[in-house]
Amino acid sequence: MKIANLPQEFTAALPILETITNAGFEAYFVGGSVRDMLLGKAIHDVDIATSAYPSEIKALFNKTVDTGIEHGTVMILDHGNGYETTTFRTETGYTDFRRPDSVSFVRDLAEDLKRRDFTINALAMRANGEIVDLFNGLEDLDKHIIRAVGDPVERFHEDALRMMRALRFSAQLGFVIEAATNEAIKGEAHLLVNIAVERINVELSKLLLGKAVAEGLMAFAQSGLYKYVPNIDMGRELDIVAAGLKLQGQILPDDATAWTYLIDQLGLSEDDAGSFLKAWKHSNDFIKQVKTAYHFIQLYRQQVTITKWELYQVGAALPIALAVLGLNFKSFDGDKYLTAYHSLVITNKRQLAIDGQQLIAAGVVKPGPKMGKILAKIEHAVVIGQLKNHLSDLLAYAEMLQSKGE
Ligand code: ATP
Ligand code: MG
Repeated sequence: MKIANLPQEFTAALPILETITNAGFEAYFVGGSVRDMLLGKAIHDVDIATSAYPSEIKALFNKTVDTGIEHGTVMILDHGNGYETTTFRTETGYTDFRRPDSVSFVRDLAEDLKRRDFTINALAMRANGEIVDLFNGLEDLDKHIIRAVGDPVERFHEDALRMMRALRFSAQLGFVIEAATNEAIKGEAHLLVNIAVERINVELSKLLLGKAVAEGLMAFAQSGLYKYVPNIDMGRELDIVAAGLKLQGQILPDDATAWTYLIDQLGLSEDDAGSFLKAWKHSNDFIKQVKTAYHFIQLYRQQVTITKWELYQVGAALPIALAVLGLNFKSFDGDKYLTAYHSLVITNKRQLAIDGQQLIAAGVVKPGPKMGKILAKIEHAVVIGQLKNHLSDLLAYAEMLQSKGE
């Protein structure tokens, strides 16, 4: 197969391939970009594989960065673009089920393609658009199949993360996992305990944002992989299947909504939600956002009347909470809350018509904890509509609080 008109992302990189091949080496486009081009999807990173050793690549180009030189990866900088260029390599000895004991650079493309995870990820493309397909990746792309390159059991023993990758590609692309690959996942799921949480997180997050998230979650449950990830107990299979079933025909809009949905489906307490996200190594900002949205969901579930103050508190996390509630309650009216939120007088403390400096300048209060308390009372009164957000009103209110010794 030969691609006639290469997308711009590839043509922009052709001079790089030429420089390498003119020096007597081989160079190909490989991996995700070739797959995504063939699927007619947006292309992210154009990766290059080459027979040239890292030192040879660095001698050919002025601007390079050693992004992963020990694995043979050098980034070539060209007109504001960066191209990860990796020397063909083989990997041997996977005693820890997650990475090779040693990596050797080789001059043969076939050796390099053999170590790749799935047939659809093991395609290479020459500068002239010709596709190199050693493992029937084109046919699998056509038939929508995720199939391990070589013996799946062996491949998952080499790197257990590949099992999660199979599920995430299946969820992203809406592809089916081929029978032997699927059986191997079920059989080797326990090996996932060897994999760093951060790497599993990346794959689960991509699965959750996939167009076939429903099937992805069901596969996550039924394969048994869920048992070998942080803070999900053995017996939760049916709950995760249910989480999948509820999402049929739906997609989740972003990471925060996805993880809030998951936590809600697992029925975690607010405290447990925090430790769950921490165990999964999410960032503090992300945890805060999800917890804020989840708190709002709990209020709704407990039928607490949602006041202006609660809307103000949930703030920018409101759309997350509304999306998750919308997935749970058929007749849920999220617009009602959005409209109420948008009609709040302020949505942020900085929008108050007064600040600490002004309180001090007016001689109302001295710097210190007292000032913070007064500002908090002003904030609350303005948000609930008890007080106009005008400097004179706020000053008068502050003076009143001060004189009452509050
Ligand atoms: P994405 O669009 O999500 O980046 P991708 O296919 O480019 O998908 P990457 O994780 O960026 O995925 O990896 C690039 C390529 O490297 C893959 O297409 C595959 O050929 C190879 N690869 C990545 N991770 C593994 C792995 N764990 N085992 C074997 N090959 C892998
Ligand atoms: Mg990629």
